[in-house]
This record gives sequence, C-alpha cells and structure tokens, in this order.
Amino acid sequence: MRISYSTFDSYRNCPLKYKFREIDKIKEPKSKEAVFGTLIHAVLKYIHTPALLAPTIDQALDYFSKGWNSEVYENEMEERSAFSQGVTIIQNYLAHTKPNDYNIVNLESRFAIEIGDESTGKHIVSGIIDRIDKTEEGYEIIDYKTTRKMPSQDKVDNDIQLSIYLKAFLARYPKEIDHLDKITVSLYYVKHGVKLSSKRTQEQLDTLEKLFLEVIKSIEEEKFDPILSPLCDWCGYQNICPLWKHKFKETHTIESEDAEEAISEYLKLKSVIGEEKQKLGKLQTRILQYMEQEGVDRVFDDDGIIAKSLRKTYTYDAEKLRALLEPLDKWESVLKVDGIALRNILAVLPTETRTEVERAKVLDKESTSLSVKKNKIEVDEELSL
Ligand code: SF4
Repeated sequence: MRISYSTFDSYRNCPLKYKFREIDKIKEPKSKEAVFGTLIHAVLKYIHTPALLAPTIDQALDYFSKGWNSEVYENEMEERSAFSQGVTIIQNYLAHTKPNDYNIVNLESRFAIEIGDESTGKHIVSGIIDRIDKTEEGYEIIDYKTTRKMPSQDKVDNDIQLSIYLKAFLARYPKEIDHLDKITVSLYYVKHGVKLSSKRTQEQLDTLEKLFLEVIKSIEEEKFDPILSPLCDWCGYQNICPLWKHKFKETHTIESEDAEEAISEYLKLKSVIGEEKQKLGKLQTRILQYMEQEGVDRVFDDDGIIAKSLRKTYTYDAEKLRALLEPLDKWESVLKVDGIALRNILAVLPTETRTEVERAKVLDKESTSLSVKKNKIEVDEELSL
C-alpha cells in the first residue's frame, strides 16, 4: 500500500478519523489552522527560492496577503488576529534570517521510499520535506511548524517525522549513511522563531520501518477504533463519530425525554457534589488547625464528635522481600503485574517485544464507569452495574 507520513500520523492519532478520510473518502472541511499553515509554508518557500535578490519583507508580506483565504474564519476579529499573527511571523523570520546565507539544496521536495519485504509485503511511504540545507558540517533537514505548542527535546530526539525524512534523504543520497552524525534534523517553530534540532542513529532508523509496517498491518486488518484525545476538538468528523455524535443529535423524542432529564440531573448533581467536596476540604483544614492549636485529637459539638486519626499505608522493599520469600518458594505467588510499572517499561522495550507483550494481554475485569468532564477536571465514578 501507499501511505504518506501525514496519513500514517493521522492513523496513529485516531484510526477512525483515518478511515473516514482515507477509506470512506468523506470530505473534512479544511481547518483554519491547516489553511494558515499551508500559506506560511508557501511564503517560506517563496522567501527561500533561489533568486539573484532575496525577497524583501514587503514583497514577502505582499505574497502572504495575496494568498490569504478569509473564508475559513468565523468572524472578522478571528481573521484579523490570524492575519496579524502571520505578518508577525514573516517579519520576525526575515529580521533574523538572511535567505542568501543559506545553501539550500531542496525546497518542498517530494519523496516516495519503499519499505517492507516479501514477508510483510512491499509498501511505499511518501511525503514532502520542507527544506534541505547543505551546511558546513553536512546537511540539515528542516520541517516548519506553525503550531504554538513546542515539544520537549526528548520528543524531538524521537520524532518519527524527522526520522522518515532522514530516511528519504538517505535514499536520495545513499553515501551520506556513513555520516549520520553530520546530518541535523530540525523542527522550526515559526511562531516562536525557535529551531529544535537533533541527530539520528542507525538503530533509530532501523526501528522506524517496523513502526510503519505495524500501522500498515493494522490498516489492512481494518482496525479502526476511535481514540478520544484533545485532537478531537479539531476533528471535522465529530458529527459522525460514535464518541461525539450525540452532541449533534437534534431530534428529542418522548422515549428519550427521561434519559435526557437523567443526563441533565446527573451533571447538576455532580457539580453540586464537587462544590460540597471543596467546602468539606476547607472545613477539614480549618478544624485540623484548631485541633493543633488546642492540642486535642477530638472536638465536640451538639451534633457529634470529630476525631483525628492517622492513616498509614506501607509498601515493601522488593529486594528484601524477595530475599526473604524466594528461599521459601513463595516469591512467585506474591508477584503480580503492576500496570503502571509495565507501562513505563513498555515505552523502552523494542517494538517486537512490545507487540508480544500486547498479545499477552488478557481481559481481567470489565466494569462500567461514568465520567464527567467539566472545566478540564475529570471525575471518574465506578458504577455497580
Ligand atoms: S472526533 Fe476524535 S475520536 Fe472521533 S474520529 Fe475524530 S479524532 Fe477520532
């Protein structure tokens, strides 16, 4: 199959969204962020396209204005704010960059590389690399980002997009494989004017192919479960997504009336309970201060007694416990899989082992819970159903 980096990324973020877009071919309205990002990329390409004289700030801004699309914005204020953001990005970029100082090898170059073999099937990964520079040290592969949020250095060091771009670069310049330490890969956050750079090892490039093959296999096996995430807020398929479509339900029937009342009452009650819990916490703090001040552990009122008690929880020193229990042949029976520890370990395991561990997963217990999301605070409540 043929998969682009962006569709690979889209599948990893939400397989169902991938299905809507790539398989069902349901058109998603272009988001204003995507339209804005595309235009900024076009302006940067214009700025760096080799010419006798590099464009001036005015020329770059003129290019930006001509490409502006006002249709995607909901109101004038929103549009004005986005436009001035674009102007600032271009002005700042050109204030700190002299286009002719760079030896640019390629701009927005398309690639298509083959991955896989007879056993996995051969596939094509495609994409577009924003910019490749020849540097004093070697080369630099740059991807522009127009998002505000910047990743940690650790994320940049493991960024799959940069790795696949490097692999595509090496397919074009195979001799450079011996100089990986001289090839820089960078994410350029134009809103901040900050470039985050990294290098890649041969080992990282080797595991990359497996990641793509895993995703391709899941697509071929038609695994398209939705993944709820903050990205849903920008998803154009909410109205048909099973996790969101109730939000768009317009017809209220007599049959659903009592359920709707239950939903409304449930949310109100949760809100009241939340407020009461906060009040309770404040009262507890005040009472504890008073007990401390009076040097007492119990306080009295006509309605009852409040007593202070100290609750201690213990954990065990695993090594000491093991030394004690192993000779007694009891160690194995106290071992149990610790979910959090396992999740932490999983992150550093090789892909193959991770897949094996995933396969070893068995359903232990199923319970139904309701959660309420309000003002970014999520409360989970187990229901005995
Ligand atoms: S709304 Fe969220 S879960 Fe549903 S398809 Fe879109 S990204 Fe996936």
